[in-house]
Amino acid sequence: MTNFRFFTAAGLFFGLLLCFSALLWNLQVVNGAAYYERSQQAIARTETVPAARGKLLDRTGKILAQDMVSWVIQVSGDCPEPDLQRLEALCREEGVDWSGAGDIADPTPELLVRVRSEDLTRVTIGSAVTRQGSGDLAPHIIGRVGKMTPDQWEDYRDQGYPMDAMVGQDGAEAAFEALLHGTDGTKVIHTDRQGEVTGEGYGVQPKPGQDVTLTLDRDLQETLQTALGDYLAAHGCPGGAGVMLDVTDGGVLAMASLPGYDTATFSADYARLTADPAAPLMNRAIQGLYAPGSTFKLVTAAAALEEGVLTPETRILDTGRYTYYPSPQPQCWLYRQEGRTHGLETLTEALTDSCNIFFYDAGRRVGIDTLGTWAEQLGLGMSTGVELAGEKTGVVAGPDYTRSVGGTWYEGSVLSAAIGQENNRFTPLQLAHMTATLVGDGNRWQVHLLKKVGGEDYTPVSLGKVDIAPENLTAIKEGMLGVTQTGSLASAFRDLPVRAGAKTGSAQVAADRASNAVLVAFAPYEDPQVALALVAQEGGSGSALGEVAAAILKTYFEKI
Ligand SMILES: [Zn+2]
Repeated sequence: MTNFRFFTAAGLFFGLLLCFSALLWNLQVVNGAAYYERSQQAIARTETVPAARGKLLDRTGKILAQDMVSWVIQVSGDCPEPDLQRLEALCREEGVDWSGAGDIADPTPELLVRVRSEDLTRVTIGSAVTRQGSGDLAPHIIGRVGKMTPDQWEDYRDQGYPMDAMVGQDGAEAAFEALLHGTDGTKVIHTDRQGEVTGEGYGVQPKPGQDVTLTLDRDLQETLQTALGDYLAAHGCPGGAGVMLDVTDGGVLAMASLPGYDTATFSADYARLTADPAAPLMNRAIQGLYAPGSTFKLVTAAAALEEGVLTPETRILDTGRYTYYPSPQPQCWLYRQEGRTHGLETLTEALTDSCNIFFYDAGRRVGIDTLGTWAEQLGLGMSTGVELAGEKTGVVAGPDYTRSVGGTWYEGSVLSAAIGQENNRFTPLQLAHMTATLVGDGNRWQVHLLKKVGGEDYTPVSLGKVDIAPENLTAIKEGMLGVTQTGSLASAFRDLPVRAGAKTGSAQVAADRASNAVLVAFAPYEDPQVALALVAQEGGSGSALGEVAAAILKTYFEKI
């Protein structure tokens, strides 16, 4: 009986064992792959892998802005208490400040190594990408990247951007967003049922953005910012701007707007920057509108010569006071200051001396409508085409504009318009562009910052050619040469390695404030390569800006 019971029990036991084994076999071998697959699907997740943003480079390949990868220790909310305490101890020992919860940004390399070796539960090491710009170098031109605003999301959503994407907010970062921004990829992360990562792989490989080379030159930019900044500080000016263009293709070699700001601390400084009455966020080079003063005499000169009103040989007598109209009867600056006159002068001499009477007479003979046409032909009062957002077009003085703002235009208003007063208002970029077009044999190039995308050169765009007879252009250029050789800039330009031409201006803005100082220049005289415009608000005389112009021209010619 005992034996029977024993065998029955043993039989049952083996039977059960067999059944269990069969079940296990079924589970693990027959259906194992399917079960495994199902379990993995349940706990695999997909993450977006942001594409690396392309670099911004200067014309010589120096980095202006690039992505920087920094490490972060990610601490999950359900990290077990003993692991949290161990992590706190490690932070203490490595001198890293951590509150005891949340991620640890920018850990020291030593802490990273120790955390990795300790294999703490629910603690992982990840990376974060930040954009490193050039600080206070050309902040308005290089720009910033940042999180999208709701309005930007409306536009970018259709282009496939995730909601938390970083996009260019201003400057070149915004202008070339489509080139710099790559296409995000996806990563599939597998975890076991305890949440530990068991493997990962790319779903879609991210496609990095393209490197964008700008026409900007880092060294010229530094020289311009430093020299102009020193000038503004020394003269107590509230702001100023400067632009240097490549005469041969319209490329921007340097563009500064002062005061500026630091892109690295922009967020922290934002409240102070927006409240600052000096408007440091405004890019004065493309958004500041300034009366050109006597630099506009270049336009009047070109119009008078090309319209046949004068020849390079025509002489006009400076009478001190211009009495053609009963009113107004404005004076030459020399007569007003010293009671003297410039006498009988040619256009070249009158440009060098900046004789007002000569250009009152030239402007009157050309007439306001034709004068306005010439200003526009030379690019004033319209967009230069530069890729930066927010460019102002300015105003060419004339009856139409005056009436549009409720004013009255008088016949004699042409006199002040001809010497760059009246309602003439232009950006420093437009003044540089006008100078470049004029001295570049009338070839007008669309202003641009883009030099190269990846390895491919950008093709400059011609905006046409302004017809200027060679002998007329020579008369104008010789007048500008006189300014730097014997005129008001002779001392500042004495040590330049090449000869340059220039014209200065001083434009009254308000009775109780000093005039704005304006200067335009080009070099070399024989074969113009670069054109320059400088404006110093309340800087007084344009000739005082000679040292700033000479500094940047010197840097340019030492480099090439
Ligand atoms: Zn005069």
